[in-house]
Amino acid sequence: MDERRARPFADRVERRRRTTVRRLAPEQRVRTFDEVTLPYSPADARREAARCIQCARPYCEAGCPAGSPIRTWIRLVARGDLIGAYRALRAASNLPAICGRVCALERQCEGACVMGRKGEPIAIGMLERFVADDAISRGLSAVRRPSSGRRVAVIGSGPAGLTAAGDLAELGHEVTIFEALPVLGGILAWGIPRFRLPRHALEAELARLAGMEVLLQPGTHVNIDSGLTALFRAGFRAVVLCVGAGRARALGIPGEGLPGAYEARDFLMHASRGTAWRATPAALPAPGARVAVVGGGDTALDVARTAVRLGAREALIIYRRTEAEMPARADERARTWEEAVVLRESTVPLAVVGDARGRVIALECLRTVPGPRDATGRPRPVAVPASRFRLPVDAVVNATGFLPDPWIARLGVPVNADGTVCADAEGRTSRAAIFAAGDVVRGPDRVVTAIADAKRAAAVTHEHLARPAL
Ligand SMILES: Cc1cc2nc3c(=O)[nH]c(=O)nc-3n(C[C@H](O)[C@H](O)[C@H](O)COP(=O)(O)OP(=O)(O)OC[C@H]3O[C@@H](n4cnc5c(N)ncnc54)[C@H](O)[C@@H]3O)c2cc1C
Repeated sequence: MDERRARPFADRVERRRRTTVRRLAPEQRVRTFDEVTLPYSPADARREAARCIQCARPYCEAGCPAGSPIRTWIRLVARGDLIGAYRALRAASNLPAICGRVCALERQCEGACVMGRKGEPIAIGMLERFVADDAISRGLSAVRRPSSGRRVAVIGSGPAGLTAAGDLAELGHEVTIFEALPVLGGILAWGIPRFRLPRHALEAELARLAGMEVLLQPGTHVNIDSGLTALFRAGFRAVVLCVGAGRARALGIPGEGLPGAYEARDFLMHASRGTAWRATPAALPAPGARVAVVGGGDTALDVARTAVRLGAREALIIYRRTEAEMPARADERARTWEEAVVLRESTVPLAVVGDARGRVIALECLRTVPGPRDATGRPRPVAVPASRFRLPVDAVVNATGFLPDPWIARLGVPVNADGTVCADAEGRTSRAAIFAAGDVVRGPDRVVTAIADAKRAAAVTHEHLARPAL
């Protein structure tokens, strides 16, 4: 074949492969909390953006819950216009450096990318974080309209609260964020570990909010019944509830209260700060411990990988179904197994076993097999008779999921059976001037959906604030 005919073919084949994503080697990463996935260089980013074929119908955009104008900003990256790309990105998400790192890309934008049909999809997440990190390094703009003189309280500082606060502040409202914990950021601060989400993106957004005179009040728990009335009396014209879903779902097995049996939230909080933010039953497991983590989602993986970095001798994930049914992202699962975390699939815990002094010494379990499909469409795990066995472990962490706090029922608005607040698609509750967004409405979900909800809730809160006071 002559050179001219061979080249386009080689280009097409080349275009099917994404620009290599580099990561810290497993043996290096398990000794630090440094970010595992390394950034694209400017040349890498441009090369990857140039792979995008700029579809007439961008399926990737339909795959993004926040409706990011992906085709547009990728075109701008390919042209080298990073500031323009960032402006386009920001239209859909206030936290693109975070979305680029933690979104379930393979089920969202990248999963819908047509390049994935005959090769590898465009590395949209890598490009998103590249553009956002570049903007952070230049300093994020904190421009707001002239003050409206209207005060609004945002309760909770997770991705929903930060987004609602940012949008309302840009519109000129006087925003205060009340956060129960001593740190701001919700799960972005205490939950998702730094090796997946370095803190600079969160810190940059907090600095931007402070630059728009948003009052940040960490360590301030608002009582949902009396506290809200007090806020309105104090002159707040609207409240946006972004309190998440922070109550652990109990395992409901004997021994759950033993020292050495943890809730994922307490474990991750301890690990992220090295200190207790809440009364917790015990300090973190000692280095050399064998740690069993019960669950199959992002949280279980994060706990197990954190345990490894804290020096666990062994970290096991106990999951009642098979790996194919795990809700955790495939990409993060691959990283987790590389770090020598062991999956015990088709296994349910029956009891946390303690010794005479009450210290955890084992997790008693039962084997399961896949049964008929349940409401989630996945095979229901069915217990295998007489399959009890004991895993010798020193600590057990419950990472089976979260629910909204029960006090939310005192809000005086209808609450669903699972404890989530009833709100319409824009975040209006049945109480005038009270709006809600994020996990408190959806139940435990994702960062990008919390952001998208909060943008809609901020828009209707703005409409409410624009009306004359009664
Ligand atoms: C360990 C872990 C890993 C995860 N990994 C991912 C991931 O990789 N990708 C992804 O998309 N999603 C992930 N998620 C889910 C995601 O983090 C959540 O869906 C998202 O943070 C929800 O945002 P939110 O703002 O609604 O709530 P949160 O982030 O939970 O924030 C709510 C905040 O409200 C505060 N608050 C509660 N009550 C009060 C009160 N009365 N007064 C004042 N403050 C109050 C809380 O302290 C908290 O800071 C993960 C979740 C966990 C737990």
